[in-house]
Amino acid sequence: MHKPVWKPSPNRAHREQAIKYIILHGTWMESTEDALERLCDEKAEVSCHYLIDERGELFQLVKDSEVAWHAGISAWGEDVSLNQTSLGIELSHDGDFTKPYTEKQYKTLVSLLEILLDAHNLQPTAVLAHSDIAPDRKNDPGPQFEWQKLYDKGVASPLCGEMNPTIDTLKKVGYVGSDEDILTAHHLRQGGLYQP
Ligand SMILES: [Zn+2]
Repeated sequence: MHKPVWKPSPNRAHREQAIKYIILHGTWMESTEDALERLCDEKAEVSCHYLIDERGELFQLVKDSEVAWHAGISAWGEDVSLNQTSLGIELSHDGDFTKPYTEKQYKTLVSLLEILLDAHNLQPTAVLAHSDIAPDRKNDPGPQFEWQKLYDKGVASPLCGEMNPTIDTLKKVGYVGSDEDILTAHHLRQGGLYQP
């Protein structure tokens, strides 16, 4: 993996809590340039720690030691507003669910996750989708994101072993929200909702 291209964002805050999670996002924007511009725009009040474009190029916008604004209103288990306790990784994608992420994106993501899990002493279960922690309002990184590629490399973990877990099981794993939203979020993580 190349050294990240440093693209500092003003949208950051002092970190007061230890990192417990790594949240994966899809940018849902036309181009990486547009995404970087927005993530560095003070008025947009959003940011992330890392962004990986379609060529597998890695950008860093906020240091791990500081908080980026990517999670928003969110919850997992007992934790709420996960910006303070997480790192955010954006994957460039225009939001068309019929379009896969690129192999180069997965390659850079796997390398980055290996480094971050080690650096912050986290288990693969710490890697979550934005849709996992905000199931009522977010669907990224989307049904086209192939979690299995991360599972195979040991840099993420299926949240539960069952194919069709009950709501109670999903809540025990960490999901917070209405039954319908939780099931939708879990489906997304299994590549559901999109039938080619
Ligand atoms: Zn997101």
